[in-house]
Amino acid sequence: MSERPHVRFAPSPTGHLHVGNLRLAVINWLFARSCGGRVLLRLDDTDQERSTAAFAEAIVRDLAWLGLVADHQARQSDRLARYREATAQLIAADRLYPCYETPEELERMRRRLKARGRPPVYDRAALGLTADARTAFEAEGRRPHWRFRLDDRTFAWHDLVRGPVEIAARDLSDPVLVRADGRPLYTLSSVVDDADFAISHVIRGEDHVTNTAVQIDLFDALGAPVPTFAHVPLMTDAAGQGLSKRLGSLSVGALRTRGIERLALASLLARVGTSEAIALAPSLAALAADFAFDKISRAPARFDEAGLDRLNARLLHEMPWSEAEPRLTALGYTGLDAAFWETVQPNLVRWPDVEAWWRIAAAPVAPVIVDPEVTTAAAARLPEPPWGDDTWDAWIAAVRAATDRRGKALFRPLRLALTGRDDGPELRKLLPLIGRARAADRLAGRTA
Ligand code: GLU
Repeated sequence: MSERPHVRFAPSPTGHLHVGNLRLAVINWLFARSCGGRVLLRLDDTDQERSTAAFAEAIVRDLAWLGLVADHQARQSDRLARYREATAQLIAADRLYPCYETPEELERMRRRLKARGRPPVYDRAALGLTADARTAFEAEGRRPHWRFRLDDRTFAWHDLVRGPVEIAARDLSDPVLVRADGRPLYTLSSVVDDADFAISHVIRGEDHVTNTAVQIDLFDALGAPVPTFAHVPLMTDAAGQGLSKRLGSLSVGALRTRGIERLALASLLARVGTSEAIALAPSLAALAADFAFDKISRAPARFDEAGLDRLNARLLHEMPWSEAEPRLTALGYTGLDAAFWETVQPNLVRWPDVEAWWRIAAAPVAPVIVDPEVTTAAAARLPEPPWGDDTWDAWIAAVRAATDRRGKALFRPLRLALTGRDDGPELRKLLPLIGRARAADRLAGRTA
């Protein structure tokens, strides 16, 4: 095994990336980057019915958007010949055996065992089949699927997140590695790939803990070194429920469309479910410098959308105009300037929030008139251009003197007339963006 750590992120291109699997990607990348390691992006696309090239492309795009670019890529569908070779090796070593049970027969067997309070472990009936019995099944037209004969031992490893783990072979079924149609199943292709690509650290969700016991045996059977494992608790929603029902709205694409910034998402995913407080990081490199497996908690990580919004707001509030300008242009806003950005940015949580303030500055707004005395007086006293630093104070002083209103009684009617809403950026800064002509019309109650 080479000295430089080598990790892989191995999504199946059967859907879009969502925050749950993206967190695993982030952890793989941060670990690799924290120690000069390399990352393989492996597309587990042997399920031909459900895998699509479009999902594969979207996964690569979503990862790149977040700044996660792999050092190299592999596709399992390109490696089928290699899995056949490994299958032959395992058959020759007497570790794969043909089984002829139908899914219905297996289901009946599982039910029988359950009824007797026994774990649904495969009874290895096929191991005892005579050559004649096999021939008879073949004559019936049955094609075998192939199970891996587990070694009768306890598999133990030191998990970088869970600590020492032990799983006894007797609690496990011999796993099916090759289907009746000859296609390899995940366990086989994954281990062959991890071995061939010399993966040093397998970092994945804790739903794979049991698979790991089997996989350790398979690495040994193939004569390959066993990698180090880290099983990360799965992510839930803020209420502690599994993410499966919300995968659409929690897809990376959906978050991007909602106007979430990549660094806000990366900061959250790097820290959620760890012993560290969630905070906005300046860069992925900073997050990598901070990475350690022992900070990852054993409890499920809760994905808190409100927390993500807070990080995103923070990021937008701190973003300089030079960075905001190209983003705004990409969103289709042209002709804006630093004054606009600095005025509205404290009111943004996500990018689409820009729209409302852009409209108030540059598009017709229906004013809301709640105190005509104030707005009429204000309209009559609107200063002539050019407007300078003291224009606002002079104007407000004049309106105050004319109406005897102050504080909220003065500013609320002005805000509602000028913007049509009750909240927003400082009026002092907003007024120059609205301009004199629109301001005069709106104060007079006209849509402008
Ligand atoms: N394609 C598998 C999954 O998405 C990969 C699991 C692994 O990392 O080994 O669950």
